[in-house]
Amino acid sequence: MKKLFLFTIMLSFVLTAQPAVAQKKLNVVTTIGQITDIVTIIGGENIEVTGLMGAGVDPHLYRASEGDVHILSKADVIFYNGLNLEAKLGKILAKMKRDKTIVALGESVPKNLLLDSEDYVGHSDPHVWFNVEHWSLVAQKISNVLIEKDPDHTADYQKNTDKLIARLKTLQTYVLNRSQELNKTQRVLVTAHDAFRYFGKKYDFEVVGLQGISTESEAGTKDVAELADFIAERKIKAIFIESSVPERNIKAVQEAVNARGWNVEIGGELFSDAMGDEGTVEGTYIGMITHNIDTIVGALK
Ligand SMILES: [Zn+2]
Repeated sequence: MKKLFLFTIMLSFVLTAQPAVAQKKLNVVTTIGQITDIVTIIGGENIEVTGLMGAGVDPHLYRASEGDVHILSKADVIFYNGLNLEAKLGKILAKMKRDKTIVALGESVPKNLLLDSEDYVGHSDPHVWFNVEHWSLVAQKISNVLIEKDPDHTADYQKNTDKLIARLKTLQTYVLNRSQELNKTQRVLVTAHDAFRYFGKKYDFEVVGLQGISTESEAGTKDVAELADFIAERKIKAIFIESSVPERNIKAVQEAVNARGWNVEIGGELFSDAMGDEGTVEGTYIGMITHNIDTIVGALK
């Protein structure tokens, strides 16, 4: 009897010690870092995330390699920005639409909140992450999609999303407060391309880009001359490089302004369509937005 009892105990120990059959994690593939970062936060340990575009990569010009197509083909869910941001990926994603969940997050922002694009006929301006409130809506959309695909982890996804949205609210207040350190005439933001229109609208800056909404067409000498006239006339203190656009464009503008007798500084590097290096503060969405507003206000004040 004693032996049987011991055996039962041992058997139950062996049974409970067996690891539960490991559930396959959702395989999620993302494009720009701003999406990769918040998908990783919301998904936590329940998903595997592969981000295609690292630091310094320009999504307007990005072409998928054979390796990327393979990664995309293995995904359960693909999150991209859409609104023609990843212009060269469109065809590949359209082909995969039949057997995958593919979500254009920028297109999930209500139409009345989107800004028109003069460059992309029939499309809105894709740079929606520059309004922190819009990016909170995108976070909620990501959460909804993950819950739909993987309802077993609903509580985890909801908890992570609530925490993230609270942090984004704090970020929003920070950006608003810092921008109020500048007076109206100081609030002119000149950058390499028109990425900052959502930023300008929300935080009350006049924004001017050397190149248009996309970087696909190069800026010409006429564009440089016109922008230089504007900066010299308005006596703008600083202009900004973007990490995903060659800095020679903004340097050319600076030289042209100097030739007009006004010294304009390079106010620093902003993260527009790509984030900073992985593992740095600027390699996160909250970090890059904080870096940008600190750099802008620091240089224009
Ligand atoms: Zn852009």
